Amino acid sequence: MPSDRKYRIYFGKPIIGDPEKEAVLDALSRRQLTNGGLVMNFEESFQDFTGGLAVAVSSCTAALHISTMILFKPGDEVIIPANGHLSAANAVELVGAKPVFCDVSLENGAFQDIESCLTHKTKGVIAVHYMGVPANLGELRSFCRTNGLYLIEDCALALGTHYENRHVGLWGDIGCFSFYPCKHITTGEGGMLLTSNMEIAQKAKALRSFGQTERHGDMITPGLNYRMTEIQAALGIEQMKRLPLFLKIRFENMLKIAKGLGDFKRIDGSYGTTVFLDCDRTEFRRQMQNQFIETSVYYPKPIPLMTHYRAYGHREGDFPNAEAISNTSVCLPSGPHMRPKHIDYMLETFRTCESRLSVVPALSAII
Ligand SMILES: *Cc1c(COP(=O)(O)O)cnc(C)c1O
Repeated sequence: MPSDRKYRIYFGKPIIGDPEKEAVLDALSRRQLTNGGLVMNFEESFQDFTGGLAVAVSSCTAALHISTMILFKPGDEVIIPANGHLSAANAVELVGAKPVFCDVSLENGAFQDIESCLTHKTKGVIAVHYMGVPANLGELRSFCRTNGLYLIEDCALALGTHYENRHVGLWGDIGCFSFYPCKHITTGEGGMLLTSNMEIAQKAKALRSFGQTERHGDMITPGLNYRMTEIQAALGIEQMKRLPLFLKIRFENMLKIAKGLGDFKRIDGSYGTTVFLDCDRTEFRRQMQNQFIETSVYYPKPIPLMTHYRAYGHREGDFPNAEAISNTSVCLPSGPHMRPKHIDYMLETFRTCESRLSVVPALSAII
């Protein structure tokens, strides 16, 4: 009996080839295994690509934490999207500042009505480029300038994204990038802090390395060990060479998915497409998985509804759009591991599962 399985499609899959493997082996044969020449080369290639000053660190979370250490102090309020990765909110909490959650738009995942979150204690904003869709950076930047606020961009899913010809991460004070395996490029774990401000870049370099301005040098502030290894940087240098091709494939896949989904309400991002479903999502995802197509949810629960943040008094119903995304949307993969035939198969399976399920009322409508 022929199997109806055509392909196995992962939501994200790192693309590591011989050049990466050779570069890692070469890095392992060097004397210096961390924070050396390869890290500098990786930073330089990131600088050439984006046009800012780059400081390599051990993760995007490390970059965000260093950013909040530089810009905020205890008691400051920082506006964060309610639907996002925990990392940005945590970075605010970790310096004793307070994350103020703002609901998001169903059009692009960016802030909805940010003015309503402003108080006399607000000192900054962390914008998240949801699924690689650039947030409304022009508006955000003037909002921050008018109100004297710092702007950090969480660009973990937005490497290669430009807004009005400027790379994201350079619209505010600091941009933070991730090289976790399923991101646009990977170093295993890893991150980059991007800025156009020389003073911020220097402070970031000290904070990633015990607070010292140089190795065995003077110490200007209590710091951490958030350094990147040479092994990771070797991977990163090779991945940067492939990035233009990765981005081209992502873009073509995004267009193909958008075209295939027609009228479905959705958010199209270079990192993936978020589709709003009318049918039972759990069942939908299970049926897709049965056809070996992995889907994801960005994000399964609004941050303010996590146990820790509920202590601020947040409850269900406070962030209706973030909850709508959490409860009814699904993200479809569009990474460079997918060829046009995979996209066609995914779209065909999407339509079959969706139409089969939407004739049955969603479970949530019955109970
Ligand atoms: C992955 C991700 C992070 C965290 O990145 P790490 O490198 O794993 O610390 C933060 N924000 C967003 C939007 C992400 O997607």
